[in-house]
Amino acid sequence: MTKASGNLADLLSGTFDPLHKKASDGIPLFNMYVDGSWSNSSDGATVDVDTPIDNSIIARVPQASQRDVERAVASAHDNWQKIRDIPGIERVEIFHLTARLLQEHEEDFVNTLMLEAGKPPKDAAGEVHAVIDRLKLVMEEARKIFGEYLPGDWSEDTLGKFALVIREPVGIVAAISPFNYPLFIGATKIIPALLAGNAVVSKPSVENPLSMLLFARLLEKAGIPEGALNVVTGSGGKVGEALVSSDKVALVTFTGSTEIGRRVVQAAGIKRLHLELGGKGMAVVLDDADLQLAAKRCVEGSLKNAGQRCDAISAILVVESVADRFVELLVEEVDKWKAGDPRDESVKVGPVINSAAAERIHGLVQDAVEKGAILLKGGTYSGCTYAPTVLDKVPLTARIAWEETFGPVATIMRVRDEDEAIMVGKESRYGLDSCVFTNSFYKMWKMAKRLQVGEVTINDLPRHGVGYFPFGGSKESGVGREGVGYSIDEMTNLKTIVFNLEPGQLGKTRRIHNM
Ligand code: NAP
Repeated sequence: MTKASGNLADLLSGTFDPLHKKASDGIPLFNMYVDGSWSNSSDGATVDVDTPIDNSIIARVPQASQRDVERAVASAHDNWQKIRDIPGIERVEIFHLTARLLQEHEEDFVNTLMLEAGKPPKDAAGEVHAVIDRLKLVMEEARKIFGEYLPGDWSEDTLGKFALVIREPVGIVAAISPFNYPLFIGATKIIPALLAGNAVVSKPSVENPLSMLLFARLLEKAGIPEGALNVVTGSGGKVGEALVSSDKVALVTFTGSTEIGRRVVQAAGIKRLHLELGGKGMAVVLDDADLQLAAKRCVEGSLKNAGQRCDAISAILVVESVADRFVELLVEEVDKWKAGDPRDESVKVGPVINSAAAERIHGLVQDAVEKGAILLKGGTYSGCTYAPTVLDKVPLTARIAWEETFGPVATIMRVRDEDEAIMVGKESRYGLDSCVFTNSFYKMWKMAKRLQVGEVTINDLPRHGVGYFPFGGSKESGVGREGVGYSIDEMTNLKTIVFNLEPGQLGKTRRIHNM
């Protein structure tokens, strides 16, 4: 592999100087953040981070050892009280300051996301803005960390008593995130976890861990106490598993594939699990839909972030009577999405994360064509860049009808009516998102009620993590919900405190009852 033409370290501002130093070959070696300091792995092992733009190495990060993970967890354990002791209003202030710092350093993050994830700058900026929004909304989340008063006078057994149900931090949160939104997904775990008074050990994807390290630096500067946040880097099999299986970890919040999610469940033992897993988002286009709108949004849902979204539109089920016109409009729309090097401003579809991903996507497209699908566009790749692809008349026997695509492919299946679409949805092992294009109120409602998914969007593509809307999956797409306020539910434990008022002669209800 060759050295990257644009050296990432040279592009970063001085704020991030403690994070990296240049090795003799000119490649920057980044440190991970453990126990309040920026350090290499204990045995000096590193792992290359390369850019999907041209596969060149842009940085190296520590390959954390079992000992490093234990040190990070021990630090979180020892420093947990420090974050709990900060009054809530000051915790909110830390996040507001982080939002301002992130705004000031937007260019650092856009450049990093472009290089490490291959994102076009506009998409990278969108990811940064989504994190800024999330940081600004912490006051809304903070309102969820209240409690409830429950009177005892509804049952003979609890007369003369009442209970307070309070929310407490769970303790140490292991936050494991995937490659596709390397900043946003990690941040949506770290922010509510710390806000609720937990200590965190974060493990970003080995493919692109740099933006998360930069984010940790901003949190450090904003005032998160040393040790309350740790970021360990390295490959998931080793680092992730050591983290997940630690007895000191109280909650694992994991976003990634269903396959790795299953491994997490096996390794975790008895602890809380929050799992955001794979999806096969389905768009259903009915005969009364605005076809222009449906085509535009289906293309965006299929191609945005090169299709590498858990909430991507991964299958389009269009009613046969309008299918020809819809496909025509969709193909016209796909022509507006140029693929290539994200540094070129006209490019909307950057490379997929690595060559293996491009080969996997190609395997799915070829399989569909062999089984009878019609390839209307694309179906080729060069390096990590997969051409925007349209497959029509995809049969249910094709793998792409059921497997997560995670690439820029519009997969069209033709159905008789909405009932057939519902049947296909039922057969899917995934249950993350769906969207429906129709102008009939009754069909909107019918589809929204019948589809077994975590989110149904009417007349738009599904989008996770925007505004206040919660998200999460059913079936093999996950357990739990993320979102402003909803993540707090996952990251706090309920504790019931029962007060017996009778010894103090305060249990008046029973006394009157007994007279
Ligand atoms: P992945 O391969 O499952 O990896 C996810 C994370 O788990 C990475 O940090 C990975 O580390 C780590 N990991 C790997 N093996 C592990 C183990 N044995 N124990 C603990 N952690 C382990 O997923 P990905 O390819 O990065 O991301 C794509 C997947 O994420 C898709 O399936 C997508 O649908 C899903 N996703 C879901 C949502 C949602 O909200 N439901 C959102 C985004 C993405 P390494 O990178 O070091 O291997």
